[in-house]
Amino acid sequence: MLGLGYDAAHYQGSMKQPIFQTSTYEFPNAEAGKQFFAWATGKEELPANAEMGHIYSRLGSPNTALLEERLAHLDQIEAAAVFGSGMAAISATLLEFCRPGSVLLHTDPVYGGTHSFMVNYLEAFDIRCFQIKHYWSVEEVVAQVQSAYPHRPVSGFFTESPANPTMDLYSIRKAKKIAEALGSEEQFVPVIMDNTYLGPILSPQHKNGADLVIYSLTKNIAGHSDVIAGAVTGNAELIGRIKKARTFIGGILGPMDSWLILRSLETYTIRIKAQEENTRKVAHFLMTHPAVEEIRYLGNIEDWNPAQQVVFKEEYGGVGSMIALYIKGGEKEAFTVLNHIEVFKLGVSLGSTESLAEHPFTMTHAKVDDDLKEEIGITNSLIRLSIGVEDVEDLIHDLNTALNLII
Ligand SMILES: *Cc1c(COP(=O)(O)O)cnc(C)c1O
Repeated sequence: MLGLGYDAAHYQGSMKQPIFQTSTYEFPNAEAGKQFFAWATGKEELPANAEMGHIYSRLGSPNTALLEERLAHLDQIEAAAVFGSGMAAISATLLEFCRPGSVLLHTDPVYGGTHSFMVNYLEAFDIRCFQIKHYWSVEEVVAQVQSAYPHRPVSGFFTESPANPTMDLYSIRKAKKIAEALGSEEQFVPVIMDNTYLGPILSPQHKNGADLVIYSLTKNIAGHSDVIAGAVTGNAELIGRIKKARTFIGGILGPMDSWLILRSLETYTIRIKAQEENTRKVAHFLMTHPAVEEIRYLGNIEDWNPAQQVVFKEEYGGVGSMIALYIKGGEKEAFTVLNHIEVFKLGVSLGSTESLAEHPFTMTHAKVDDDLKEEIGITNSLIRLSIGVEDVEDLIHDLNTALNLII
């Protein structure tokens, strides 16, 4: 993440890649401009020995190109496309692959914004969104989909795993089997995975069969609560399609924000390891506190979902930095805790260097129907914690003080 794809000699010796804060690029001559457009629009194939010149920053810049190269490497796959937000990455991907008249399969819960995009936008374009229960077998999923939508092709399988905010896992190998069973020669069914919670090092999912892996880079990868960004990773062909969609939908990441994330990538591995270690210690403390009803994090999955333990062992590589804390009580007690934390900050987002706490029922997942929230475990007693890199004793002391107020 420090050296890949960068040669200072091409940048006047600049130790770090400069920020290309320009919207457009000057062509050396008209013939070159014509050639760049022929390559960029796909009218002609870019020869292996040729170098594509830059055209216009909605198509890409040296900063997006370097960031994409490093993100693809981090995710052990050929290519990546960066976006101005995680939602821009999710919406462009779904618009590219889901066609009117089709059905998109998805697990629940998903990020609140993703849920709203599916319900408010995709449904309006005659794309049905069909919820897949975690406990259905591959055969059951196929039977359920075929009986619910006998005349609609399946355009994708979307899952978020671990799910925000309940931590539920979905087996990507199983999703791939379902996609293959419901797809055909003419109808490719991509497995699209939102991997924001764990990220590329702790959870490399292409090897398990994910075709497109999506990140809100805003979270762990940028990691400092100072930039909004997103990405999709996949093979060159699929990312080529996504980049084409990005050109017209227009959601590319800017040069400055790309540069900020290149900087974040240099410490990415160190940060997630430090956060993970703090998370284990905070979780162990919380398990002993009398105001706590239940703790869910990936380090104690055998306690809250033994059925998913095998999936965790076989397909996931770390516990990450998120905790679902179910306290004894409801909204009143949860708000008392949230109003008295000091080291933890009361705010949405996650994965940053500072620890954050929020109340999904009334905040990030406010727009999800109450019935669905109850069904999938987003209750009034749930506080979502994101663990940062502070001194862990400070974090534990902070939670202890606030939780003692509701015993
Ligand atoms: C935050 C988040 C998103 C949306 O990302 P933005 O960068 O805020 O647009 C999508 N999925 C998950 C799991 C998230 O946590």
